[in-house]
Amino acid sequence: MASLGRLRAALPGPCSLPAPLRRLASGWGSAAALLRSGAFMDGRWVEVAAAFPVCDPGSGTELARVADCGAAEARAAVRAAHRAWPSWSAAPAKERSALLRKWYHLMIENKDDLAKIITAENGKPLKEAHGEILYSASFLEWFAEEARRVYGDIIPPAAKDRRILVLKQPVGVAAIITPWNFPSAMITRKVGAALAAGCTVVVKPAEDTPLSALALAELANQAGIPAGVFNVVPCSRQQTPAVGEALCTDPLVAKISFTGSTATGKLLLHYAADTVKRVSMELGGHAPFIVFDSANVDQAVAGALASKYRNSGQTCVCTNRFLVQKGIHDTFVEKFAKAIEKELHVGNGFDERTTQGPLINEKAVEKVERHISDAVAQGASIVTGGKRHSLGKNFFEPTLLSNVTTNMLCTQEETFGPVAPVIKFDTEAEAVAIANSANVGLAGYFYSQDPGQIWRVAEQLEVGMVGVNEGLLSAVECPFGGVKQSGLGREGSKYGIDEYLEVKYVCFGGL
Ligand code: ADP
Repeated sequence: MASLGRLRAALPGPCSLPAPLRRLASGWGSAAALLRSGAFMDGRWVEVAAAFPVCDPGSGTELARVADCGAAEARAAVRAAHRAWPSWSAAPAKERSALLRKWYHLMIENKDDLAKIITAENGKPLKEAHGEILYSASFLEWFAEEARRVYGDIIPPAAKDRRILVLKQPVGVAAIITPWNFPSAMITRKVGAALAAGCTVVVKPAEDTPLSALALAELANQAGIPAGVFNVVPCSRQQTPAVGEALCTDPLVAKISFTGSTATGKLLLHYAADTVKRVSMELGGHAPFIVFDSANVDQAVAGALASKYRNSGQTCVCTNRFLVQKGIHDTFVEKFAKAIEKELHVGNGFDERTTQGPLINEKAVEKVERHISDAVAQGASIVTGGKRHSLGKNFFEPTLLSNVTTNMLCTQEETFGPVAPVIKFDTEAEAVAIANSANVGLAGYFYSQDPGQIWRVAEQLEVGMVGVNEGLLSAVECPFGGVKQSGLGREGSKYGIDEYLEVKYVCFGGL
């Protein structure tokens, strides 16, 4: 059992260790060192005068106080990353690969504790948190492999006395800004690619979930990632605009990679414009889930449950609108409602039975309530759920709405919560038109057993990722990203590393 004294020693900075976190960490032994509260810069834990609270979204209880960095710390971290860049980018790919792999192994060794940190600060069920840690670690493993496969090209020249080469080189320092819904995986999906390419990074994690980012820093340090290569500057919501601006306008930063809301993404794009930084943006979605008459309805219901209610509906690839053809509509709605009532259990993420943790904060619950009341006021029916759960605070009942029309808010904006609105449609063309009416396009799903229809609809959906008879599609090997206002660039897969590489053409003349 780790003593309080030992845990305190593991938590530099202005942090005290409140009882909930102390309970969480009891029995962790040396893994208690994963609970950090300082900023991590230039290979060191740095104390900052101010601190901000990190709270359990289920109870509101304070878990820890974490260093509240400001613009000065952000700029210092950028300078550290910039100093580290020449030697990191010049290191043989094999060395960078080995360090990423070591970091991956440390994540796997500590996977249970890392999962507990996610559940504590994000609220998602422990089983989902375990899944996230494996997914998160898989990016370090994948990019450890990709690091060694960054090939250039030799191009046949038009002139006899020339030879043409193409080199791929790291872009430089990357500023990485991540959300709270996947507190670990959204970091490694970017950082794995960046470090593999030879870039150095400064990460600003979401204010709701900095502990997972700091645990990653601790493991990066243990893995021997050199000082300045991976830096983390946590900050409160109040400091976020200043820190964001400092990171995204600093001339030493060459690249911004962001995952979060479309509104924040647009602001960061403005920042990037001034110094023409490279950008990757993974922004909001509004995923349609179409069930055609030919679908296997049980498969569609299973896919719908997974795609809608994972992480309590708080992922950017979660279904936001169900479009169900009129012939299968009533059966689908009836079976979907039964499945929700039987299989989903709202509760604390640490309870084994829980499939639905709390929403991240009050603002998120209010948005869900607003979408439901708007839909009901315009004629939608609540089939199941529809209100806050008796557990209180940020817990919400998984909700199914029928008689939904396209003029309701829930079919126009991302809900980011456990609400499934069902729109009835008549023809394939009508469904595709409704699906494509959004100004964003991240994921889209449809269920059909008709091969012709599968090809047509997969090609016509204006999204970056399509699930055909599948409700979950994220995997390290696959390119993740969107079209329209869902963003720019792709993460993971063989394409993800290109986001951190420049193409340089070298012309050898006079031969
Ligand atoms: P959400 O509303 O779901 O929290 P955001 O886009 O606001 O979505 O948050 C995603 C990430 O963007 C978080 O790390 C957050 O702190 C950060 N963020 C929010 N506003 C800004 C800003 N003005 N500059 C830089 N980062 C920001």
